[in-house]
Amino acid sequence: MTDTNLPAQLIDRFGRTVDYLRISITDRCDFRCVYCMSEDMTFLPRAQILSLEEIYILAKAFAELGVKKIRITGGEPLVRKGALELLHNIGRIESLKELVITTNGSQLESMAKDLKQAGVKRINISLDTLDADKFKAITRTGDLQQVLRGIKAAKVQGFERIKINAVILKNRNHLEVNDLVQFAVDNAIDISFIEEMPLGMVSNHDRSGAYYSSDLIKKDLARQFSLMATTESTGGPSKYLNVIGTQTRVGFISPHSANFCSTCNRVRLTVEGQLLLCLGNEHSVDLKQVLREHPGDLPALKQAIINAMQIKPEKHEFNLHEQPIILRHMSVTGG
Ligand code: SAM
Ligand code: SF4
Repeated sequence: MTDTNLPAQLIDRFGRTVDYLRISITDRCDFRCVYCMSEDMTFLPRAQILSLEEIYILAKAFAELGVKKIRITGGEPLVRKGALELLHNIGRIESLKELVITTNGSQLESMAKDLKQAGVKRINISLDTLDADKFKAITRTGDLQQVLRGIKAAKVQGFERIKINAVILKNRNHLEVNDLVQFAVDNAIDISFIEEMPLGMVSNHDRSGAYYSSDLIKKDLARQFSLMATTESTGGPSKYLNVIGTQTRVGFISPHSANFCSTCNRVRLTVEGQLLLCLGNEHSVDLKQVLREHPGDLPALKQAIINAMQIKPEKHEFNLHEQPIILRHMSVTGG
């Protein structure tokens, strides 16, 4: 099949159009969040991970197949050397509507301006607590003040709809949900609460004991805020509520209590070049192999991506009470 015969859209067996790609550009991170990593992680050897050039070629192939939004994530994407240049190059792919990143905020103070110039439209910043000691306990190595300065720097640059991502864990930070929303309101930014997902083995952390549902968070918030349902979407799995009288939206990513698979529009590219068709399943295609076996052959790469849509599963199954069936860490997958 020649390039021009390829469809400009990726559609799976269930009629879902895939127009959103998340790319993990590194499995490394300067933090060790308890729900994401073990304290002593072994990271992948360099030869095993995609080069920046390979990532760019893949981004271009996806964009030519109708992907409109790319999120760069990790690990901590901003600790990878050359990340800015990569973002700059992807930001210039013509058919792409939105280039966004997810970061822990540790590098934002010095990088926010360059990110804006590179063409990054929106930034999601992880922030689970406003208490410096708890922040240290959850991230193991992070510094709350550094992240708060990073959020401020991003605000100064005028990014559209900055969003805080907070993973809520029972008995660790569940009492802080109202303070976190107040922080978002005070800074005129959005916030999403995420239910923990059983991805990868983690040490010294009991996942089932830490489960705190989105419904409980909503009940807690209703004591302090007036929230109104909205049909707005940012093309992700978050369901949003408006905080009445403010610019802030509160999102809920609830893989356990509300299955969002029927409208799934996304796929993920791991740091090793595996195309993951679903976060909660092992179905994947090795695009690094295609790239390295057929260097420069964009049609072959695009055909492999189109074929991959045939194995996108209908939905995910997560069970917090068993050892994870998904052994990948979120940092490899691209959360
Ligand atoms: N390092 C960046 C950061 O923390 O924002 C980007 C990568 S991180 C893997 C992306 C998001 O995944 C973060 O908001 C993090 O809180 C979330 N995350 C990590 N492990 C998770 C898990 N097991 N369950 C739910 N969310 C998780
Ligand atoms: Fe690093 Fe983000 Fe994982 Fe925390 S959640 S360890 S910041 S990749």
